[in-house]
Amino acid sequence: MGNVPIFDGHNDTLLRLFLPERGERRTFFERGETGHLDLPRAREGGFGGGFFACYVPNPDDDAWTEESALTLTESGYEVADAPLLDPVYARGTADELVKILFDIETESEGQLKVVRAAGELESCLGDGVLAAVLHFEGAENLGPDPGALQDLYEKGLRSLGLVWSRPNAYAHGVPFRFPSSPDTGPGLTDAGKELVRECNRLGVLIDLSHLNEHGFWDVAETTEAPLVATHSNAHALCPTSRNLTDRQLDAIRDSDGMVGVNFAVAFLREDGAEEEDTPVEDVVRHVDHLVERVGVERVGFGSDFDGAKVPRGIGDASGLPKLLATLRERGYDDAALKKLAHENWVRILRETWHQ
Ligand SMILES: [Zn+2]
Repeated sequence: MGNVPIFDGHNDTLLRLFLPERGERRTFFERGETGHLDLPRAREGGFGGGFFACYVPNPDDDAWTEESALTLTESGYEVADAPLLDPVYARGTADELVKILFDIETESEGQLKVVRAAGELESCLGDGVLAAVLHFEGAENLGPDPGALQDLYEKGLRSLGLVWSRPNAYAHGVPFRFPSSPDTGPGLTDAGKELVRECNRLGVLIDLSHLNEHGFWDVAETTEAPLVATHSNAHALCPTSRNLTDRQLDAIRDSDGMVGVNFAVAFLREDGAEEEDTPVEDVVRHVDHLVERVGVERVGFGSDFDGAKVPRGIGDASGLPKLLATLRERGYDDAALKKLAHENWVRILRETWHQ
């Protein structure tokens, strides 16, 4: 099992490279000591590729940060709603993030490829080429004109989250809260429903992670594609607003969709704490619950590398073999591990992209 490549549903590495102070001046090609993902650590850990998110942070003059908006409550925490982004600013910043990924592809001289079709993804996983799916985390990234989706599709965009954890013209993201139901506000706007149909037409995956529950059901009613949450966990085990209730999981199963298990400790732990000393077994508990609820054909990984605090036992991308070993001890055989590692993602992307 040493060389089963892992394809992963979510990383924020482009943001780290974009904000040098946040990325501590790492490059993608040198082995870093901080953060989670670069080419050397990907190779060490068998990380064969994943969704590379373009996430646009609130600008400094908004004076909103996840830290400053945080209030501790008796049983957990609440993060105040992040303000809407100006779509012109969002698009400009997203373009810079996209450029970082394509520059890496060029500089990599064939070691990383931005994939646009499931066949390409499979070839990359077979040939040891790191496969990157270009993903937008928040549809404000499209800019003021949603018609830009077509141009971005032609450039290589293949996955779109309607929202990050803030509202925009299309939908309402869940604010980070613990404990909290994901039912935190209104659903999709008319523009949001239109965008879902446009994603279906082009073959762009719609990511449900960060969407509130009302929005989730609106997408479920509107879309023709399988329901996918790229980086979310089981609300039954960790009751944060970011996780999926059993009812939502049932809908994902019924659509033959998929969930990528998030390694963020705050979405794994029963107490929701930002505690690095969280056992790798906590990831396995969520895999178990999701597998039981949606089936082993519909679960994969969505690490949130470079976007969240992950269990010390995994540490970074080079630690992925420890997760596979823990799952094996738990009873997952070769066939199941291959499904979790990449086969399920390949299937979902083939069905969603129609190619
Ligand atoms: Zn995210």
